[in-house]
Amino acid sequence: MINYLVNKWPEYFKPGMTPRKKRIIRFLLAFLLTFITYQAILEIITVEIPIFGFHDIVDLRNPQEIPPQRRDFPGDYSQQNLEPFLDDLVRQNYWFLSTQELYEYFIANPKKPVPSEYGDRKKVMITFDDGNKSIYTHLLPILQRLENKYGRKTKVVVFVNSGFLGRQDSLIKKVTCQDLRDGMQTGFYDIQSHGLNHENLTKISMTALDRELSQDQIILRKCTKDLDPNQIVASHIAYPFGAVNKQVDKYLVKYFSSGYLYDSLKLKLRFFPPNKYRISRLTVNKKHSAERLSRLASGSWLHKLIGKK
Ligand SMILES: [Zn+2]
Repeated sequence: MINYLVNKWPEYFKPGMTPRKKRIIRFLLAFLLTFITYQAILEIITVEIPIFGFHDIVDLRNPQEIPPQRRDFPGDYSQQNLEPFLDDLVRQNYWFLSTQELYEYFIANPKKPVPSEYGDRKKVMITFDDGNKSIYTHLLPILQRLENKYGRKTKVVVFVNSGFLGRQDSLIKKVTCQDLRDGMQTGFYDIQSHGLNHENLTKISMTALDRELSQDQIILRKCTKDLDPNQIVASHIAYPFGAVNKQVDKYLVKYFSSGYLYDSLKLKLRFFPPNKYRISRLTVNKKHSAERLSRLASGSWLHKLIGKK
């Protein structure tokens, strides 16, 4: 094939074409073809799972929730953009993974086989950090509307700091245990840990670290005890500030099956099992339009070209 390409080279190149030049062109073409083939194969064997990391949800139509009444936070996202984004995903029949599903079917070693009803569906995970009240007041109504509209239940992951449960005095109000129970009972919430008090786990003493991890799990499980017979609640953690290191790892394994970063990357699964305590998440902020998030969820052009889910 390479020889064919070189010999088909337009005539006007031929006069000055020394054997040496031909060799160079042949080499470059071979290199290019190998590179493209390698990329295509890599793309085909890669399973991409976009995990979106949201924080507070604000209603832009409510003056109380926008400056100057309420301070802007970098991680804020508007209800007005969140709803069309989620609507698009539900309409396209995405599989909204829970943390336990991601773990069992894609991360654990050995993995469980993916049930056939999920086989050909595109995958996504939607997460909300910090247990802000808006996951109850703004997010749940959206999920309820989508269920009424499409007849499908949408599961979202909420990573909660149980040390702040029910707080009304902070800049951003927090959910109560009852809010979490409501979200879980209606089947929308997958409740997971975000540490007890949102401490940077890499910067505290071992005693404090152990407390941040163990107490959050105890409190979240106590709150949801009767709803969670298999103790799935607080089996997974998202690190506050995305901060984790080897030292933290040693304590994590005592309490959690997997851990989530906040590193603006898509989770990519290839030959080897990934590090279950370094699961990548895409950071979301107000600069991302609903369309941009939909494009991020749907994957690369090559994935679409080969019809990969
Ligand atoms: Zn956080």
